[in-house]
Amino acid sequence: MPDQPNCPACKGRGWILGFTGNCYDQIQRCDVCTKFDGDEAAYQALEAAVRCALLLLAQPEDRKHIEGVLEMLQQFHPFR
Ligand SMILES: [Zn+2]
Repeated sequence: MPDQPNCPACKGRGWILGFTGNCYDQIQRCDVCTKFDGDEAAYQALEAAVRCALLLLAQPEDRKHIEGVLEMLQQFHPFR
């Protein structure tokens, strides 16, 4: 796993939004720095990061919306 914190392709995130069909709609591993083992691992890492961010930012009464946001994220799953 090469250490490229400033990867020019993904800016260090380790994932990119991939082009499939006719629009950018799929989370894919960055093949330049190969920070993650594959598309699924990249997606799982992103989902975990989103979940953490939402939980940190949300008020307790907002938490019921978090599952909805994660459902939207599922649209970008690499193997849906
Ligand atoms: Zn990269």
